Amino acid sequence: MPSERVVAFEDLDASERSACEIAVVANPRIEDVLSMPKLKWVHSVWAGVERLVAELPANDVRIVRLVDPQLAKTMAEAVLAWTLYLHRDMPRYARQQAARQWIEHDYVRPELKTVSLLGLGALGAASAAKLLAAGFKVCGWSRTGKAIPGVDCHAGDEALPVMLARTDILVCLLPLTAHTRGILDADALGALRKGAALLNFARGPIVDDAALRSALDDNRVSHAVLDVFDREPLPADAWQWAHSRVTVLPHVSAPTDRRTASAIVAANVRRYRESGLIPASVDRAAGY
Ligand code: NAP
Repeated sequence: MPSERVVAFEDLDASERSACEIAVVANPRIEDVLSMPKLKWVHSVWAGVERLVAELPANDVRIVRLVDPQLAKTMAEAVLAWTLYLHRDMPRYARQQAARQWIEHDYVRPELKTVSLLGLGALGAASAAKLLAAGFKVCGWSRTGKAIPGVDCHAGDEALPVMLARTDILVCLLPLTAHTRGILDADALGALRKGAALLNFARGPIVDDAALRSALDDNRVSHAVLDVFDREPLPADAWQWAHSRVTVLPHVSAPTDRRTASAIVAANVRRYRESGLIPASVDRAAGY
């Protein structure tokens, strides 16, 4: 970006800080963002911006989050990989191996299994396409109604238990907002088909940990693949590490690709310089 001056925050003096218009951030200290009074917009290089939404006053600083087709592709790959892990009973065969047990279980075709996506945004829609191509029945849930070919789309709170009741594998790709915090509680987990499994690749606090633990202990939920947690890194004494029905991942399902993300940020900044248009930004009322 030869026409821009790109400076690390620590290298700015007070007068330079007060002149900044755009900040490119990952998970910044909010006081650093607030120390730039002329800031018009903040471009996050993460897709999830719940901390910025919660901590930045809803004044006229706009929050732009990363929407990157490469990120969606990476997440869709993770969703497919871990869906197949559950579909082909890998956790169960691993437990059997540990006990030296040779037990064959029936094969169930993917056409007979329903994978439901919570969230049909950039990441959910890309994941739906991969799951459909792999032969699964796919349902999806969003805030506003969607029409995605091949996907049984549901919207709104009343529709959630209806979808959960036919779900074998539930994939969480919701943003963390006031509405989605704790939405996977005992009621929601209890509404799933018995023995359903969960992938949480969105944010930890969307799932009520205690409710999940008891659903796993009762075998109402057969397995959970968790990439995100209330506290990260997951503390050494957390129950999830040692639970036989939990797979712990260290927040790796869709890391930002520096090369593609940089190109997207650069293009957004360039467009703003040319047209004065700030890219589509977070709806502060909806929280995402
Ligand atoms: P997005 O494009 O904003 O999509 C969010 C989806 O969630 C939309 O379909 C939205 O509905 C739906 N939604 C939001 N609030 C809802 C509610 N109250 N009830 C029902 N549906 C609701 O976001 P995205 O780019 O797909 O990313 C989703 C999340 O993934 C991010 O917020 C981030 O937390 C997480 N993430 C995790 C990783 C990782 O490595 N683990 C990486 C990247 C992102 P509408 O379509 O009606 O708006």
